[in-house]
Amino acid sequence: MQSKRSQPAGKRRFDLHAEDPASSELARDINRDIVLELLRRRQPIARVDLARLSGLQRSTVSLIVEQLLRERWIVEGATVRTARGRRPTMLSLNADLVMLVADVRPSHAVCAVVDLNGHFLARQSVPVASDAEIGVQRIAETLGRMRDEFARKSFEGVGISMPGRVHPESQQLLWAPNLRWHDYDIRAVLADRLGLKVEMDNAANACMLSELWFGRMEKYRNAVLVTISEGVGAAVLANGQLLLGKDGMAGEFGHILIDPNGPQCNCGERGCWEMFASTRAVLRRYNERAPEQPAITFTHLMSFADQGDPRALAALEEQAQWIARGLRMITAALSPETILFAGDITACWERSGPVVQRELAARMLMGTPPALIPIGDGEMARLRGAAALVLQRHSNYHRSTTTAQRAGSRDMVAQA
Ligand SMILES: [Zn+2]
Repeated sequence: MQSKRSQPAGKRRFDLHAEDPASSELARDINRDIVLELLRRRQPIARVDLARLSGLQRSTVSLIVEQLLRERWIVEGATVRTARGRRPTMLSLNADLVMLVADVRPSHAVCAVVDLNGHFLARQSVPVASDAEIGVQRIAETLGRMRDEFARKSFEGVGISMPGRVHPESQQLLWAPNLRWHDYDIRAVLADRLGLKVEMDNAANACMLSELWFGRMEKYRNAVLVTISEGVGAAVLANGQLLLGKDGMAGEFGHILIDPNGPQCNCGERGCWEMFASTRAVLRRYNERAPEQPAITFTHLMSFADQGDPRALAALEEQAQWIARGLRMITAALSPETILFAGDITACWERSGPVVQRELAARMLMGTPPALIPIGDGEMARLRGAAALVLQRHSNYHRSTTTAQRAGSRDMVAQA
């Protein structure tokens, strides 16, 4: 079930309305994407309805379905008696196909088992160390136990969300200023220990993929997802596709210089946006003002704010303003329709969101600001995103909003 192409570039330029869509491999890929998209959305569904909703020939749908069945992405379920007495066999995504996933943070990793529909079967947090060998060993042990616990399931692969940049081809951790695990082949060690293929990517990309696969991104073609936790990361969806850039480094807004005299950043520079907008920055600002009652974690600081501590409230207000300043850079550069937020910031979005919204609206070059949407529990998004990484690369199914819109528009016409 290995993807035969790691770079789907060019595929989406294919015109779906060309005269003979089945004549090229490109078209078959797109048709397969559309069938899978409809299956995900309308399961359980019969072949005849897949053909009707996709607008594809019955024979084309049958070929695609047979392939998906062979590859175990989907399963046949019960037959359903219709009004006319036919008994079509219903098709669903194979819920027994699962992925091992881990969300690696600088201090700990959350390991989990996720199925094709994005449901969690197990979840467990493990401490990691600054030493890569020990950290990866702990993750491998936990994932191994989970695999044994669900031995009846079929494991498709391992997806890892990292707090840093991963090269899209070599899958090596290239750059992770808050996690010093460079020069260690994380993927090879995990693959060897677990006997499964391992896919890795940056946490922000994972969150964006999670939204693409399991969220509601159909109406957006241009979006930015900003994760604000210990650091600040971003992922860019441009024309419905995740933007990777050279070496997968696109989207590092967190390390754009804001103030050359600002605090020292782990990337080696001073005054990056991350040093003003991250939760570490809020803690630093608060602890400078309240040395007698330091906040150890962001949760502490939020509880101080909830109790009305003016220093905590001021630190959060300043963070929101710094976030908005950075968003001006993002809106000026990319003009997204929406900006999604993940990470610690979503826990205080009720307080910080309106400040960010107001400050950004006052800083737009022109027009109205993009919709700002917190996506809630960032941990779940990163874990689902890690699962989506495996799906995206192994299923030969490259979900994009373009595919979703194509499937969606036909779906809506069919429902009307
Ligand atoms: Zn930096």
